[in-house]
Amino acid sequence: MNPRTIPPRIHVLAKPTGSVCNLNCSYCFYLKKELLYPGSRFRMTDEVLENYICQLIQSHQADKVAVTWQGGEPTLMGVGFYRRAIELQEKYRRPGMTFENTMQTNGTLLNDEWCEFFRENDFLIGISIDGPRELHDAHRVDRRGTPTFDRVMMGLRLLQKHGIEYNVLVTVNRVNANHPLNVYRFLRDEAGTNWMQFIPAIERLSEGSVTPYQQGTTVSDRTVESEQWGNFLIAVFDEWVGRDVGKIFVQTFEAAVRNWLGMGSSGMCVFNPVCGQGLALEHNGDLYSCDHFVEPGYLLGNILQRHMINQVGSKQQRKFGRDKLDTLPRACRQCEVRFACHGECPKNRFLTTTDGESGLNYLCKGYKAFFNHIDKPLQIMAQLIRSGVPAAQVMQVLPQDYTEQAEVFFKVGRSESRVGASPWEPTTPEKP
Ligand code: SF4
Ligand code: SF4
Repeated sequence: MNPRTIPPRIHVLAKPTGSVCNLNCSYCFYLKKELLYPGSRFRMTDEVLENYICQLIQSHQADKVAVTWQGGEPTLMGVGFYRRAIELQEKYRRPGMTFENTMQTNGTLLNDEWCEFFRENDFLIGISIDGPRELHDAHRVDRRGTPTFDRVMMGLRLLQKHGIEYNVLVTVNRVNANHPLNVYRFLRDEAGTNWMQFIPAIERLSEGSVTPYQQGTTVSDRTVESEQWGNFLIAVFDEWVGRDVGKIFVQTFEAAVRNWLGMGSSGMCVFNPVCGQGLALEHNGDLYSCDHFVEPGYLLGNILQRHMINQVGSKQQRKFGRDKLDTLPRACRQCEVRFACHGECPKNRFLTTTDGESGLNYLCKGYKAFFNHIDKPLQIMAQLIRSGVPAAQVMQVLPQDYTEQAEVFFKVGRSESRVGASPWEPTTPEKP
């Protein structure tokens, strides 16, 4: 294996329960993945766990190792599974090596024991919550159809009580997308969170049915609409840029700032020119190109048979990552906000452009509106950061009607404002 084909840090998102979850959120594409492993108990064995940790460490050239747990619902494995994972990290670690364990959970099974464990081992927890009660409960229900808001909030309060570092992940669907400020203000003011991720819910339909694979060119009626997504981001951005810069971190905005600064990587695979550095490990050791492509065509191999490092650096995986760039339609290549959008995620590229080319992103209209809308304030932020001034100063210099007046404030073209090195480094954790 050519060492130049292996990135110094590898992101593998482990799914110890596969797609199994104690909830039954109506838009969840993971649940349908159970079909991939008929008859499986969906529990990662100790053998797979040990190989995972050992190979992850062996594959890392850097001293910081990200260990990411997701599902399904990863807490269904019980705390003992993760105690063992920590033991294995200690067993295989090289001198000077540190671990960043992160877990994405629905929060409903958390208790004091979990939280004590998280604190002892510095876990960063992501909680999935879709906004205030009525918006959250629109789709996030359990297997009996019972709403889950109270249980999720109980989990979140426990994390706060124990001083666990956490962030929230909101799935933006056709219901909550109409209430951006309700969602944002609830998270900020009531849930008390200062780090948020907004993910668009997109369920593709193939022959009229939701499919576990990335197939079909139509979407379900739970799927956020493209313009709706753009309007959601715009509304949240306007609130954020007017009062919360430097206090509240919104992953999409952080990525945008990095792209306006021309930093090389946005910190989000979807807004980078190429991808392929965030793989997904199923409960049985099967390694896939990406969590969104856990399907037969994107299976790289099983870590019990072929070392992870050979799969990460394989021709197949490098092609997967480069395809994000190589398959960009002309509309994207000529787009004025390409530097920020990069055609977003290939899983969402199932529309045809006006000139008949396939591969246009379903969310294109929304992104175009959003990135054009934030251009002026981000030029200002980039300029401030580059001058060594905290980005939060943008709140003082931005006039009410910033889209008009920003033009006068900084007479710089976008290309001018994006060149050069930046003294700014975001302090927020980077997600795969
Ligand atoms: S396919 Fe999409 S989610 Fe997966 S790594 Fe590429 S950009 Fe990221
Ligand atoms: S906004 Fe649309 S055309 Fe522009 S890069 Fe993004 S997906 Fe492509």
